[in-house]
Amino acid sequence: CSRRAEHRLVGLLLVGGRRTAGRHHLRRSTPRESTLPRRRKEFSCPPIGRIPRKLRTKRSNRDLWSCPTLCAKSPAVPLGHIIAMDGPAGAGKSTVAKLVAEALGYTLVDTGAMYRTAALVALREGMPIADGVRVAERLSSLLASKELVFEQTRAGVKVTYIGSDVSREIRSPEMARGASEVSQHPSVREVLVALQREVGKNGSVVLEGRDIGTVVFPAAKAKFYVTARDEVRAKRRHVELAQKGDPSTFEQTLAEVRERDER
Ligand code: C5P
Repeated sequence: CSRRAEHRLVGLLLVGGRRTAGRHHLRRSTPRESTLPRRRKEFSCPPIGRIPRKLRTKRSNRDLWSCPTLCAKSPAVPLGHIIAMDGPAGAGKSTVAKLVAEALGYTLVDTGAMYRTAALVALREGMPIADGVRVAERLSSLLASKELVFEQTRAGVKVTYIGSDVSREIRSPEMARGASEVSQHPSVREVLVALQREVGKNGSVVLEGRDIGTVVFPAAKAKFYVTARDEVRAKRRHVELAQKGDPSTFEQTLAEVRERDER
């Protein structure tokens, strides 16, 4: 997925929002996600540098957006929406989701990190990944006791597991494989889907990962499915793994991508 294509996607989101809402977008009541509580209208003005040049509104247009802080540089963007970014592994959805979240000033929720952490917990605590019920129970208790915490920072998601920062460990190829396996268990998905709903319930979020637009937040304001041919996805993944020192060949990576798609 090229940078240009990513920007085109951001454009669709903003222009699409404006087209449906019309000129009186900010005064009219807009359709609400069924899961969202009633809330006062709020606006955020993301820094101009984060918004693709083509999307920056003209000064005359800006008045239509009624930016309450009379921000001189950037257009106002309504807060409160849930944006779902779905798609297969390696298609570039994380990159696109990050750009969209930055452009709108929304919080990015990397749900893949949660499944990676589930794999890490299983491995660290000597639980077989195949025992989904046990892994799910342990995740529930760690989350309830706040021994497992996910925090979104500017640098990405920070994962604290029993007092130690495991944000780097979960990015290893081993955890990627473990995540793919552990995510197949309905009991594990149930715990993590509940966590994703909790994190996203107040809106102003871009949730990225499998099933977000279909299962987690089917009523999300905007849903995107980012995809690419399996060879293209394998190439992206192969380059990424090689940079981390993984010796897998392109053919092995391609086989792995196809296998993940089957699951
Ligand atoms: O996106 P990331 O590579 O971090 O995800 C790791 C794995 O977790 C994915 O390959 C997928 O199998 C699983 N996953 C999932 N549902 C999500 C996010 C990730 O099943 N919402």
